[in-house]
Amino acid sequence: MRARDKVALALAGALIAAAPAAAEAAAPRPADTVFRNGYVRTVDARDSVRQALAVRRGKIVYVGSNRGAKAWIGKRTRVVDLRGKMVMPGLHDAHVHTLMGGSGLTSCNLNYEPLTTEQFQQRIQACLDRTSAKEPDGWLEVGNWYRQAMKPAGTDATRATLDALRTSRPVTVRSSDGHSSLANSKALELAGITAQTPDPAGGRIDRDAAGEPTGILEDAAGGLVRDLVPPPDADDNVAALRATLDAFRREGVTAFMDQGSSDAVASAYATLRRRGELTARVALAPGVSRALAARSARAAVAPVLAMRKRWETGPIGVRPGLRVRNVGEVGQDGVLQAPAQTASFLTPYFVNVGSDEAPKWVPGRDRGPDPYWPLQDLADVTALLMRHGITPEVHAIGDRAVRHTLDAFQIARKRSGSRLPLSISHAESVDPRDVPRFKRLDVLPAMAFQWAKPSFDSIDAAKNELGPKRFARTEPIGTLWNAGAQVAVGSDWPVDTLDEWLLLQVGITRENPEGGRYRGRLGSSPLLPRRAAIEAITRNAARVMHMDLQTGSLERGKLADLIVLDRNVMRVPAKQIRRTKVLLTMVGGKVVYDAKRDR
Ligand SMILES: [Zn+2]
Repeated sequence: MRARDKVALALAGALIAAAPAAAEAAAPRPADTVFRNGYVRTVDARDSVRQALAVRRGKIVYVGSNRGAKAWIGKRTRVVDLRGKMVMPGLHDAHVHTLMGGSGLTSCNLNYEPLTTEQFQQRIQACLDRTSAKEPDGWLEVGNWYRQAMKPAGTDATRATLDALRTSRPVTVRSSDGHSSLANSKALELAGITAQTPDPAGGRIDRDAAGEPTGILEDAAGGLVRDLVPPPDADDNVAALRATLDAFRREGVTAFMDQGSSDAVASAYATLRRRGELTARVALAPGVSRALAARSARAAVAPVLAMRKRWETGPIGVRPGLRVRNVGEVGQDGVLQAPAQTASFLTPYFVNVGSDEAPKWVPGRDRGPDPYWPLQDLADVTALLMRHGITPEVHAIGDRAVRHTLDAFQIARKRSGSRLPLSISHAESVDPRDVPRFKRLDVLPAMAFQWAKPSFDSIDAAKNELGPKRFARTEPIGTLWNAGAQVAVGSDWPVDTLDEWLLLQVGITRENPEGGRYRGRLGSSPLLPRRAAIEAITRNAARVMHMDLQTGSLERGKLADLIVLDRNVMRVPAKQIRRTKVLLTMVGGKVVYDAKRDR
């Protein structure tokens, strides 16, 4: 908030407090909608709770008592009796992959299920059979493969797994974390990947004992194959993003940051907007090219500025639009889970030097790759972006990648003199010495809260490999919050099913509701208070997207982006938060989802 606005708001507040009659008199024109008898969680600077809220022309004109709201009710005002229900700002998700998510909802999809090799093959065969018109050479892309959870434990897939299918089509399967791809022999052949192919920068071609490619392609190596897949056409994209927006409305998401946005994505959102179907605020976050950055920061930033010029729909207003104030998909490392272990750490991963029956885990030699960006390049690009009012959200998971990113941010902040908020997504492992730097450098961690629970990913695929100390401090959500960081939410959908309410519950409890062998709390990072979790998914995530002056809290003058819930997530037992149902979603004063109407 700018100082001027602060003064104005403070003055307005003082006037209302001192002379409510005068404030009411200053409201000659009735509101379009008045919500009464509610638990209105404003998420304002004082975290105040009110009873009523009035909306006029897409903006909040009043937040306060039932009595005060009366002055806003006219003949045509829609009056909603909340009967004690909770109202809060619409959810803001600062890290989602919306085209991947939307096409997952509309195409061949393994649905994050732990599968045996046979089930894996059956599911993909079914997709092939459904689209058999594409034989013999149309590509099949498969998504949301939960690679780490293949059954029985330790099972992995290779190109042979896919070669056994009844097809001559090239097939590629993407892991749900987005970092690994699997290709069949036909796909490898088309991509020209052989034993002689060198690993590309920022990626790895997995090879067997004889040096032959196994079909597994890590990070940038996956692109060698995926780049050959003809891109979906404009209609496919519109259909996928329509499915995304529908899912968001039901979930209560009113604003989001799309990672690595392409022109194709922007164009599809622009189409949906023209047709009046855009029901959330879109923060497009195109990527920046490491190769161009090696030439010059200016060369790397130019395409981002071109995107802004082409797609921005103007200032944030009542009607949802598109903005380009962020850069995303700036990858510093991969993932920390075995078998990939592509997260960049300060100290080595542990290895088992004992046996399976009598394991003995000790530090090995591999501490993951060096952070993918040269320090100076990242600092240069960040500083230049900030001068243009754009900030990067950098993907960093291992503590070395996090430190390296903070180092680059420190240089960039000093050089640009900019006060815009910076952001690191995931930050799953932060060295204790770097924890206070988030506050100091105004870097918002955009955390996928749902990862902070005992699960296959955190326990089976990471616990031993991280070693006890490092494991204890993973997913440092509460640690960062306690150190004054403005923790934000970035769910990373579709890495997991879209479920912002489970995400909030896990952020607060650090427990897996499935229990069983995953019962108990993850690690030793302190629990996040509920109010902090709510703030993370509203005001703080809005700040990451440069929307916090207009959205993210329910205050007079802000846009009416809000949700009504079937339960009070501040009061129900924490274990019930994940069952929360959104009853109504409003964006810019317009009801875009009503549970009764849109079942
Ligand atoms: Zn992501």
